[in-house]
Amino acid sequence: MTDGRRLAYLEALGVDVYVRRSLPSAAAAPEPAGPAAVAAVVPAPPAPESSLDWDALRATVAACTRCALSESRTQTVFGVGNPRARWMFVGEAPGAEEDKRGEPFVGRAGQLLTAMLKAIGFKREDVYIANVLKCRPPGNRDPRPEEAAHCRGYLDRQIELVAPALVIAVGRIAAQNLLATDAPLARLRGQVHALGSRAWPLVVTYHPAYLLRSPAEKRKAWQDLLFARQVFQRIERGERVLP
Ligand code: SF4
Repeated sequence: MTDGRRLAYLEALGVDVYVRRSLPSAAAAPEPAGPAAVAAVVPAPPAPESSLDWDALRATVAACTRCALSESRTQTVFGVGNPRARWMFVGEAPGAEEDKRGEPFVGRAGQLLTAMLKAIGFKREDVYIANVLKCRPPGNRDPRPEEAAHCRGYLDRQIELVAPALVIAVGRIAAQNLLATDAPLARLRGQVHALGSRAWPLVVTYHPAYLLRSPAEKRKAWQDLLFARQVFQRIERGERVLP
């Protein structure tokens, strides 16, 4: 990408051209208050989907009635992108626009995510994008523990099928669910986590919907993406990135 185009994307992100590449300390990045983590307290049910291929998994999700969100959804929102992507982004749950269109990260938050991807040299179709929940929680409330637990097997299977080099948890809810922690986002940023039994390398950043509400945080999101790119380059060189 040319410097001019990158600058245009950075401006869309609200990021100054000259950004510091070191990450701020956790204490310098206060996290908005919110409910505690939603995953750790409820054991996940058996996951029969753990051996499904893409088509069978997609069909199983489309017909899923494991939790009450099946009653209020317009449609399930499975995931989108390159099924062999090197980067996989995982958000929280579909919103109203996603529920209507059946695709994750559309609408204004999705446009900002697309701009963020372009800023680090990716097209949206280069990566794979999914959510912790495949159905919209009414009123865009946070996922409930039992909903996240029932839906987790689908996401785990998507991650296995994509087999990404790097997973990006987008937003506090996704990060806390994936890592089964109630740690604030500020403490989770700027480090590489091991996701699941296969220890997929995972880094954390802000949700674009939050960035739209808090544009001053866009600089930190850009720093997260630079960190993610640096981690990815180390992975591609065969270097160890997990402690
Ligand atoms: S949120 Fe997940 S577990 Fe609940 S009905 Fe939708 S697909 Fe099934």
